[in-house]
Amino acid sequence: MNPHVIPDMPIKPLKRISPSKYFAVDPCILREAWAANHINELLPVIPTVRVGIIAHRILELTIKGRIRNHQDIDEIWKDGIKKFELEMHENWMEKHLVPLARNAWNYEVKKQKCILLAQNFFTNTEKASGKGQKYEAEIWLETPDGKVGGKIDAIKQLGNDIQLIDYKTGKVFDKNQEGKVIKFEYQKQLKLYAAMYYMNRGKWPTCLTIVELSQKEHDIPFHRDECMELLNDAVIRLEAIKQKISGINYIDEIAYPSPQNCKYCYYWPGCAMYWEHKQDSDKWPADCHGIVKEKRILGNGTLLLVLGRQEGDVVVSGLSMDRHGILKDDIREIYLYNLERTPVPGYFKQGILTTCYKSCK
Ligand code: SF4
Repeated sequence: MNPHVIPDMPIKPLKRISPSKYFAVDPCILREAWAANHINELLPVIPTVRVGIIAHRILELTIKGRIRNHQDIDEIWKDGIKKFELEMHENWMEKHLVPLARNAWNYEVKKQKCILLAQNFFTNTEKASGKGQKYEAEIWLETPDGKVGGKIDAIKQLGNDIQLIDYKTGKVFDKNQEGKVIKFEYQKQLKLYAAMYYMNRGKWPTCLTIVELSQKEHDIPFHRDECMELLNDAVIRLEAIKQKISGINYIDEIAYPSPQNCKYCYYWPGCAMYWEHKQDSDKWPADCHGIVKEKRILGNGTLLLVLGRQEGDVVVSGLSMDRHGILKDDIREIYLYNLERTPVPGYFKQGILTTCYKSCK
């Protein structure tokens, strides 16, 4: 991928919906159609997400019995970090985010919690193994036609009790709800897995549980009818989305830009509809596009840009020319993503995830 240049971004019809994407496709079909075609992220992956992936891997290997002690955990952790850091080092957007230990939020806390959770697993399974308790990890479940499918993190079985477990390394509560309510999408994901478990194995799980890295467990109440309805709904949605994608003339027709939908999207730089709808408001990400009116090197060696726009000029300071090679060129126009707002309206500064592009498709 050429630095600062948007690659080709063809779309592909969705063949399958996974429970984790069930909610994502509804807000914006375009984002999921790009993801289905394995279009690389156009913005840096948040470092904490990478740490979460390693924690998940450790839990998976622990359940599979391939990690037996603290030393194993340590090796897998170091190995996972090394692989990600090598990958990031080759990526023009993420080089500066190495090492993860410094740049991933709560790195050490997440690591220690992951170790404790895995150790707790050894202790509990050793105690319970004599009683016939069985664990399976990363089990693929799908509908008979393959239209909905995904991997459940773990299945625990003891006698007639069957528990489906979803490990979460981030926040699990819905911040828009009063009290501690598990995110709606997490509840639905587990219910979809419950229905698929029934379709694949002919019996229903008795318990659906979300487990946090802190070892807190949250059981999700469910009804079988509700789970089956959700699954049927997912199949209907998939068909509707397929038809929608096949009937479009322009990809913009399947884009649904809004502050909520675009917040966690990594494709802003390639999405014309994003820029068409984005407003200068705190609700939208702090991104700027404009004509370079002034370019000044500050005393600390960073760059200050004044960008001319129809809505009024903006000033962006603290830009590192080592990080954003494009800034060394004589550029006329620029798109800046993931800036940080300052208390002064119209003034922005570079943030840890700030990324520059020459154009937007
Ligand atoms: S930027 Fe927004 S509208 Fe564009 S693909 Fe992403 S979520 Fe959809």
